[in-house]
Amino acid sequence: MSSNTSTIFQSTINNFLDTKHTVREFKEVELIQNAVEIHSNNFLDFIDGILKSPLWIQWDFQNNPLKQLALDLAAEIDRLSTLHPEPAFHSRRHFMDVCMMLSYLLMQQERWCDQSQLTSPWYACKEEKWLLLIAAISHDLGHPGLINKKPYELEKGSLDLLDTFLSQSMHLEIGISDVLGQISPWILATDHAYYKALLEKVSKESRSHVDCMSMLLVEADLASSVLPNHGFTLAQRLAEEWRINYPEKSMALTTHAGYLQFLKSLSFVSPQSIEARIPQALQITLSTHP
Ligand SMILES: [Zn+2]
Repeated sequence: MSSNTSTIFQSTINNFLDTKHTVREFKEVELIQNAVEIHSNNFLDFIDGILKSPLWIQWDFQNNPLKQLALDLAAEIDRLSTLHPEPAFHSRRHFMDVCMMLSYLLMQQERWCDQSQLTSPWYACKEEKWLLLIAAISHDLGHPGLINKKPYELEKGSLDLLDTFLSQSMHLEIGISDVLGQISPWILATDHAYYKALLEKVSKESRSHVDCMSMLLVEADLASSVLPNHGFTLAQRLAEEWRINYPEKSMALTTHAGYLQFLKSLSFVSPQSIEARIPQALQITLSTHP
């Protein structure tokens, strides 16, 4: 990365991931996403950039092994991209979107200070924030651009690749089974076939912490797709990804009606998304697509 590009990129990230401004206009979020896409040459630079933001520096802790793991995973994803062509949607650009939106959602917690929120099943503690970031980085690891033929097929594939990477890398001190044990249910929850079931579970008073953390990752996975301008662009990338193997699904998504149908199936319910006004973004997008 040239030093000029890298300065623009870092100041964009620093400006966005700063607890002094927890809520942004949607247009601003989209401009930042565009700037990040243009100015980050690879995934490692991107992850390195967000970890240098005021937000992630504030969330770092002594002897945090998950920081180096995040960087090493990003480098591995860059390496894999030189071996296999990336799908049009499930590419490093999507991984960046998910990491950005996850950071943005978690940043909303900075305004929670009363005890009732801190004991809420929706509250992510410091270590969980880092584990959610690891999950955001790796949730679509090795995605082939296909749709699941059986439940959790691609998500299990990503977890297998992550397991192999952890076993072969220098991260044995973290406790591979601990990391995988915590993030596996979150990553499995990104299988969209189970979205409605998860939504029902977290809408109940008896919602569990693991389901809430899963929903946070799922909402970060989906949030960029509901933004008024960026959302339709992303839908077109997914249509391109499906063009050869699923021509009918692909065609449907290229129309505003198909995109609207997808939007109408979504509902953002976490307190973090509500604070970030993602439900309002969804409503605006629904009202602006004919
Ligand atoms: Zn995803």
